[in-house]
Amino acid sequence: MITEQTLPPTSHREYIPPAALSTFTLEQTIRLLFNSGDRQSTFPPAPTATDQLQLHLKFTQVTVQFSQALSALNPNLETALSILGESFSTNRITIVQWLPSPAGAIAKPKILAQWSADTTTPSYDPITNIADTWLSSFIGQKDIVQIRNYADHPELQSQLIDQDIASLIAVPIHDETDAPWGHLILSNDYPAPQFHSEFAIHTLKIATELIHHYFVRYCTQRDLAASEALYSGIVLHSAEVIFLVNIDTEYNFIFEMVNPTYCEKTHLDESEIIGRSPEDIFPLPCAINLNKSFHACYKIGETLLLEEEYQFSQGQQIWRTCLIPIRDRLGQVIKIQGSARDVTQERHLEMAKIRHNRQQSLLASLTLKILESWQMEAMLATTVEELRKTFQADRVFFWELVDGQEGEVTAEAAINTIKSMLHQTFPMAAFDRGDFNIFYQGEIQICIDIDAAKFPKKHDQMLRTYGVVGYAVLPILVSSLDGNPNSEPILKGLICVQQCHTMKPWTTDELSFLRHLNHQICIAFNQAELIRRQQQNATELARSNQELEQFAYVASHDLQEPLQIVSNYAQLLRKRSEQSLEPRSLRYLHHIVKETKRMQQQINALLQYSRLNTDRKQFTLIDSKIPLDRAIANLQLKIKTSQAQIHLPKYLPEIVGDASYLRCLWQNLLGNAIKYRGDRPLEITVICQQQETSWLFQVKDNGIGIAPEHQKRIFRIFQRLHTQAEYPGTGIGLTICKRIVALHKGEIWVESDTTNGTTFYFTLPQKNAICINSLSPSNDLV
Ligand code: ADP
Repeated sequence: MITEQTLPPTSHREYIPPAALSTFTLEQTIRLLFNSGDRQSTFPPAPTATDQLQLHLKFTQVTVQFSQALSALNPNLETALSILGESFSTNRITIVQWLPSPAGAIAKPKILAQWSADTTTPSYDPITNIADTWLSSFIGQKDIVQIRNYADHPELQSQLIDQDIASLIAVPIHDETDAPWGHLILSNDYPAPQFHSEFAIHTLKIATELIHHYFVRYCTQRDLAASEALYSGIVLHSAEVIFLVNIDTEYNFIFEMVNPTYCEKTHLDESEIIGRSPEDIFPLPCAINLNKSFHACYKIGETLLLEEEYQFSQGQQIWRTCLIPIRDRLGQVIKIQGSARDVTQERHLEMAKIRHNRQQSLLASLTLKILESWQMEAMLATTVEELRKTFQADRVFFWELVDGQEGEVTAEAAINTIKSMLHQTFPMAAFDRGDFNIFYQGEIQICIDIDAAKFPKKHDQMLRTYGVVGYAVLPILVSSLDGNPNSEPILKGLICVQQCHTMKPWTTDELSFLRHLNHQICIAFNQAELIRRQQQNATELARSNQELEQFAYVASHDLQEPLQIVSNYAQLLRKRSEQSLEPRSLRYLHHIVKETKRMQQQINALLQYSRLNTDRKQFTLIDSKIPLDRAIANLQLKIKTSQAQIHLPKYLPEIVGDASYLRCLWQNLLGNAIKYRGDRPLEITVICQQQETSWLFQVKDNGIGIAPEHQKRIFRIFQRLHTQAEYPGTGIGLTICKRIVALHKGEIWVESDTTNGTTFYFTLPQKNAICINSLSPSNDLV
């Protein structure tokens, strides 16, 4: 038992800096003690050298015991602390660590361990973090703090009383860089009459170093154990195969460790793998592959990432492997650590995705082609080419049924190494395997192995001649387009996708895509057929219209002469027989002359109308006032007779057109306004307004007007609303007007009522809104 009484008062001893204490030798200590005794003979008798030596030996012994306790294989900190506690006759020992905290903040104390003389009531749970203020007061203290009683530190008194502490010594613990790490605190529930001796303090200093080492070791071991547990967990439970390969002196790769997944994937037991090389375990091709990869990693000496295909009994597998070389102290690669993952499914999914995207883009590009051109040739060329790429087929072609029994290959995409079928003709029988009729139901036919199938002779012959080993055939059906919804679709031909080298199974995904594609192609064919017919009809219509126009012209032109003769002779007859003929016959003759004249007028009008379609006029830039003025000049007599008031616009624009046509247009409209005048004094107003891209002209009268129900038909040829007796005319004037306006790319319409009169409207494009060439008269229909 060491007590303070046995030691001399601290003030009478030579000061030894704490740092030097740990290096104090026994000899130095004894010399020091003897010297001090000599100098201080007035003080209580100094301890004898024997006492001092004993004391030193005692503390040395404590240090050794403490050190041994902490450096044991499985050290028990409690036991070690008890050695200190008993040697220092203290109630309690606490080891505190100052936890590092963010810059500026105060470090927090964490009690790492505690020993108590009274084992029944331990003061603290050593693991719990506490932030006691009395503990916090030691933070940053570099020197040993000794409290003999409350008077030494009155500010801590109440807290120390709370903790049942009357005296203590707190020795700072430093880390290897001499930075504060924590404190070793020995506390008592009774006041200490004296300070601890330097021997005691020296022992405690050594103890703090041992404690710090212990915790560093403890933490390292704990971290190591945790990381070992983590890695062994990963290795054991990883879904990836993990292995370690040793490289022996003969440069053989020997399996040293494999995880359970490795055994599971290879269907082998661990004992069948460990200690063996790949060629002892796996089929030769697989072993050669593995050895090659291991060798590459060994040779390069760097991490290798590989993706390899292996043929196992359960099928082909794709493995993604990572090989890491492990070196010895001399840098020599001695082992290879590997991990690998079966990515077969992943790769298949990726491939399926690529295929799917490709199929979608094929559909999109076909649709685009169809929209762009409606050209079957272009569409078929794209279809066969894209189909070949998508299915990695050797040959894709379209066999077009020509006469119901025979057909020709009109489009083909094929690899270079095989025989072309382009422009070859084949009978239907070449594609008939006994169930040809299913093509009419739009069904796809597939064959994955022609050797396994027993096909009719002609079909088999065609396949063998062109080296086909498997195929898919899509029928192309088009609607009959005869207007009857019940009519059977027509088989236009077959699209054949052929494999010539390797047999290829057709996945459901591929077949569904083929069906989609088939549907799309059939729609395209139907639409192209419709357009073809539409174009045919339009050409036919244009041709028949032209013929009609020609006929109208020829008829009106050629009829003029005989009619003139009839008219002349009728007039001659009337002149010569005026005296001899009875009045009734004369009346008849008069009718003949009159009707012949009318017929002549109608034929003239028809001829004029026909000429609008047959005569080609070059449109030029003209002042629209000129044709209007000419029309008024031509109508001068009628204007005078009718006493018509004509109001003209101040400004009339330049337009692109033909002056004689426009004169005719104005003359017809103004002439009608005069002809169909009413009882009131006639007023005619011509208005011209600029619109966004055209000029709007109006010819407004206050005449008899037109009832709404007749307003549409007045523009049709020979349509009149009055008798010749009421208003003479041919009924062709407005038809001519409509045609002239149409030739100028304008529009004409009428607004009228029988009270206020009639307004004819027509538009003509503004000169900058149209190019002159595009306005040249064409064969547009009225
Ligand atoms: P026509 O005047 O020779 O009969 P048009 O083709 O010029 O032939 O006119 C067709 C019909 O339109 C006329 O018969 C007439 O009934 C009606 N019509 C044309 N212009 C007017 C008008 N300004 N006012 C009233 N009716 C008109």
